[in-house]
Order: sequence, then structure tokens, then C-alpha cells
Amino acid sequence: MIKQRPFLVETLTAIGLILAPFILPYLGFAPNTVNRILVWGLFGVGFDILFGFTGLLSFGQSALYGTGGFVAAYLLTRTGFHHVVSALFIGMIAAAVVGYLVGLVALRRTGIYFAMITVAIAEVFFFVEFNPLADWTGGENGLPGVPSPSFDLGFTTVHFTNGWSLYGFLAFWYFIGIVIALRIIRSPVGAVLRAIRDNPLRATAVGHNIHGYKLTAFVIAAAYAGFAGGLLGIMQAFMPPDAFMFDTSAQLVMQTAIGGTGTLFGPLLGAAVWLSLQDFLQATLGLGAAWKLVLGIVFVLLVCFLRHGIIGGLVDLYALATGKNKQVEEPVEETTGLTAEEEQKIAEAQIAKVPTVAPLPPRHRDSDGYKGPILQATGLTKRYGGLVANSDINFSVNHGELRGIIGPNGAGKSTFFKMLTCEVPPTSGKIVFEGNDITGMTVTDVCQLGLTKSYQVNQLFSQLTVRDNVVIAVLAELRGKFRLDMFRNIESIPGLTEQVDHTLAMVNLTPRADTPVASLAYGEKRRLEIGLALANSPSLLLLDEPLAGMSPRERVETVKLLKSISQGRTMIIIDHDMDSLFELVERVTVLQEGRVLVEGTPEEIKGNPTVQEAYLGGVLEQ
Ligand code: ADP
Repeated sequence: MIKQRPFLVETLTAIGLILAPFILPYLGFAPNTVNRILVWGLFGVGFDILFGFTGLLSFGQSALYGTGGFVAAYLLTRTGFHHVVSALFIGMIAAAVVGYLVGLVALRRTGIYFAMITVAIAEVFFFVEFNPLADWTGGENGLPGVPSPSFDLGFTTVHFTNGWSLYGFLAFWYFIGIVIALRIIRSPVGAVLRAIRDNPLRATAVGHNIHGYKLTAFVIAAAYAGFAGGLLGIMQAFMPPDAFMFDTSAQLVMQTAIGGTGTLFGPLLGAAVWLSLQDFLQATLGLGAAWKLVLGIVFVLLVCFLRHGIIGGLVDLYALATGKNKQVEEPVEETTGLTAEEEQKIAEAQIAKVPTVAPLPPRHRDSDGYKGPILQATGLTKRYGGLVANSDINFSVNHGELRGIIGPNGAGKSTFFKMLTCEVPPTSGKIVFEGNDITGMTVTDVCQLGLTKSYQVNQLFSQLTVRDNVVIAVLAELRGKFRLDMFRNIESIPGLTEQVDHTLAMVNLTPRADTPVASLAYGEKRRLEIGLALANSPSLLLLDEPLAGMSPRERVETVKLLKSISQGRTMIIIDHDMDSLFELVERVTVLQEGRVLVEGTPEEIKGNPTVQEAYLGGVLEQ
């Protein structure tokens, strides 16, 4: 919806903000409550980019809110600096710089450890504000006397003092904050942030430097927090020390959860619920300190019954009412009642009719025609403690070759692939890809060089549509591993749509392009898994059991797909389905107990007594 009508949300926001002073008083909202909601809402826009869009739950936002607020308030109350807006921006920059430094430390870990580090950092800031820096921050007294803004228009001066007059000033900055945030989430950076939230491992593997993007989200959230902190001081004519308290961070998290994460407007709505309930319970019902008890119960109920907050609940209701609830669409499982053989025959006949799409040329055209090795691994060994998963493997694949790897479970095939794509470092040995020594490089860098892998267990971006999944992979090729094009419209990237459409056609998912991944049948998910590895036109494609778990029909379809994408490309395929694999590849490497047992053409492998005896137990005898 956002994509189709780019200015709709902005326009509705502007209209809402203009109408609010005329409507909200009738709903019992005092102007000061509305102003507080706006400040929390703006604080939450940044937090939502960090938490809702990138999946990073920080409990340390108070540190940045306090930093921005105190820097702005200090300038305005202690230094003779009078320009309110400039002070707000300086506070914002200070918070962003602090956010960068905090992010560098906190983002070294993920999940609960990241959250715990942010808690600890917020506590450190709280302590520092109260003790070593008390002379500058006023300690527990805070900084009183923060001036309100006024603008000299030549013929008159406009003052934004308090109540509805200050509302205009705050609403203006909230609007600017929303417009900027909408630009960010619609940009390629926003798309990558969502990919990181969904599946950081795959976002890395398709070639994005996710650490850089996470840090970017952290700095953006810090900047929003810093600016909102400055507004807090102006709104209250006093910079309160409790901006730095853990409670501030916790309240922000809860308000965002109540309103709905990943919506930008959730924190505003959550703040409205929270603050109006607070006013109502404390002032109207006179509950005193017990209001938190009631609020706690309301919070638990809302989170339990509205898993995506109020906005998520409204979206679900709308989808239900209009019958557009694609999220709950069940995958289509085909049950024909036929035997596997019959199914296979029918599938072969049907699939033969499906036109194949010529693959995109691999990225490294300068190597076209060169028949030397594209990949060479020498002495590759991987030990896990005492267990030797791969031992002294020498392996070479030529440009344009189709290589199969077989071996019993536990032979070390997956470990070998993980070393080739640099997911795990070898204990010893060397890997050379297109003349570059890639040993010890990152998965992202190796992907950027043109070596990608499809996973044995699907690694998709599960909350995105099929098209958006492929977009994420293609972006990594077109933009490189890290780029801060935060204000660029994703659709304006030259070649993106064509490459995405082409990839979708290659993996035969064009009709499913706008389907959420959760609604795909298993075989379709496997094809998308291959599509993600294929999307950024790799010169070497590794496929880890692409046929695993497929129905006969899906197998035939996928073998056909693999044949078509193999044209002009180098591929190494691991699979247990020998018939399909031998039909596809030119040479086969057999691994056993972490070593190369034998290598040869499919015919040689089929007829090799060592393989039959040691591994296949004679099953390949014709
Ligand atoms: P395959 O793919 O051929 O089934 P793997 O490469 O998955 O074999 O595993 C080879 C051996 O390495 C197995 O014995 C497995 O238990 C061990 N292994 C794989 N990954 C790890 C790990 N992360 N930690 C410890 N042992 C591992």
C-alpha cells in the first residue's frame, strides 16, 4: 500500500496532526498530554526502526534520550546559547555520536546478550549523570529554565510557549521525523533492515554487511532519541534527570509493543494509550501509585491478545473484513492419491511443457572461455575438538563444470561447503576462488566475489513476500555489501526490477511473486531458496541437497530447473538422490569420513567397486 501511494501516509499524518487540536479536546485530551504523546511518539519512531524493523531490542534508549536532552538543555541554560532549534540539532548529533560508540560495543553480541548490554550501558549513563557529571547536568535537580522556542518573522515574533501553542512546534518535528523515517524504510537500507530482522544469517550470506546496517539503525534510533530528549526539556521548561532512568527505556518498549512494532506509528498510539490511561487512572479515578498495577494488567492483556499491538490488530481486522488475510493462507499441499511413480510420470510430462528461462550470465564475464580451475581447495581440514569433520581435502573445479558431491551422512559434505563459502574457517588448508585466496574471508565478501550457496535447510526471509526475498539478494549485487542510500527510492535502482523478475522466472515463481513466504508450499520454498543463491548472478553456485524432502513432482521440476540454470555456470551439488544427481553432473566426488574417497564421471563412480563396497553397498549396480 505504501509503495503504491507514496504520499498517502504523509498526507494522512499531516491532516491528522492539523486536526488533532480541534478534535482531541472533545475526547478529553489535555494539550500537555498530547504534547507528551508527540515527544514519546517521536522518540519511538527511531526505536521502531531499531526494534520493529531491524529486530534489535534495546533497553538502553534512555541513555540517548538523556544525552540529547541534556546537551540541548545545557547549551540553552548554561552557555548563553539561545537558538533553540540549533541546540536541538546539536543534542541530536551528540546522541548519534554516543549511539555510534554504544552500538559498536553492544552490537558485538546478538539477542538477549545485546539487550543486556544495552541495559548495562543505560545504567552506566544514569550513574554518570548523577555523579561525575552532576555539575553539568544538575544531578537529581536536572536543568531548570529551558527556554521555549520563538521565531522572529520580521513583522511579528511567534512564541511556542506551552499547551496548544507548543503543540504546533512539536507536531512539526513529529511530522518531519515521520517523513524521514518513511523515506528510510522505503529505501534499500530499509529493505535490508527488514531482512536482518527476519534472517540475519541469510542477509549476510546474500552479501550484506549486516553489522554496518545494524549500527546504522542504532545511530538512527539514537538521533531520534536525542532530538526527542531535547524536545522533552523544552516542553517541560526543565530537563528532568529521570530521562536517563531505566523506566524511560522500559516505558518506550512497552508503548511500542502496545501500539504495534514495525509500523512507525505504533509508539505514538502506544504512548496515547499509556499516557491517557495514566491520566485517567491517577487523576480521574484517584488510584495514586496503584495506577501502574492496572496499566500492567492492560499491557499483559494487550500483548497476549494483540500479538502485533493495536495497529497489528486493526490491520488483521481489516484483512478479515476484506478477505485479504494472506498471512493465514495455508500452503497448498497436493494430494492426488496416485503412487509416487505415477505422479513422477505425470509430473515429467507436465514439466516438459514449462518453458525454461535462460539464466542471467554469471558476474565475472572476463573469465568466460577460460577453462582453468574456478575453485581450488588444498589440504582443507576441519576439526571440531577431537572430531575430524574434513581431513586434508584437495579439490578442484573448472569453470563451467557441474560437480556432484556424494557421501553417507556424517561424511563431512556440509562442513566442506561451509568452509568453501567461509561460513566456518578451516583448521588448516587454503581455498582459492577465481585466483583470490579466500581462506578466512567473510561469507559476505565471498558472496560479493560471486560464490553463493543454497542451504540444506531453507534460510528464507519468512515475513517478506517472494519478490521481496529476491529483492534483498539482488540489492547486494547492485549496491555492494554496504551503502547508506537511505533516501533513495528502492524502485529507482537501475536493473533491479529486471533482475528480480528474471530470477523469479528462472525458479518458476513469477505467479507467486506477491505471496508471503509463509504461504508457500514446501517445493516452492526450496525453489526460492535456490533463487536467493542465484539472484546475484554468482559465477560459482553451491547447492546443499536441493532436492531434500521434495515430492516426486517437485524433484522432477527442480532437476529441470537446475539443468536450466546450470547453462554457462559452475555448480557443485550435494544430494542423496543419486539418479537425479548423476543425470545432472559431469563429475562426482565421493567423500567418506571427511576424506575424498574417489572422483570420476557418474559412470566411473557407478562402476567403481570401492564406492560400491565402501559406501553404496552395491546399490548402484545396474
Ligand atoms: P554431512 O553433511 O556429510 O552429513 P557434516 O559435514 O554435517 O556431514 O558433518 C561431518 C561431521 O562433523 C559429523 O560427525 C558432524 O557431527 C560433525 N560436525 C558438523 N558440524 C559440527 C559442529 N558445528 N560442531 C561439532 N561437530 C560438527
